[in-house]
Amino acid sequence: MKIKVDFDLCESNAMCEALAPDVFELDDDDFLQLNTDDVTAENEQRVRQAAAACPRAAIFLVEDGE
Ligand code: SF4
Repeated sequence: MKIKVDFDLCESNAMCEALAPDVFELDDDDFLQLNTDDVTAENEQRVRQAAAACPRAAIFLVEDGE
């Protein structure tokens, strides 16, 4: 499974970074960066929490190949 972000929707409020800082990180210009786009057994729960918490619904989990 892969993590996708709609950067047109993202408003850089860092809620995802607060929940999963190993995956989501705002850079010095407040642009969201993904440290990885892989959903792993280790990060899946936090990535799902971040997706659910995103007020812009900008985070998606998609099956590989989609
Ligand atoms: S929670 Fe959503 S809107 Fe906020 S920085 Fe993350 S992706 Fe962007």
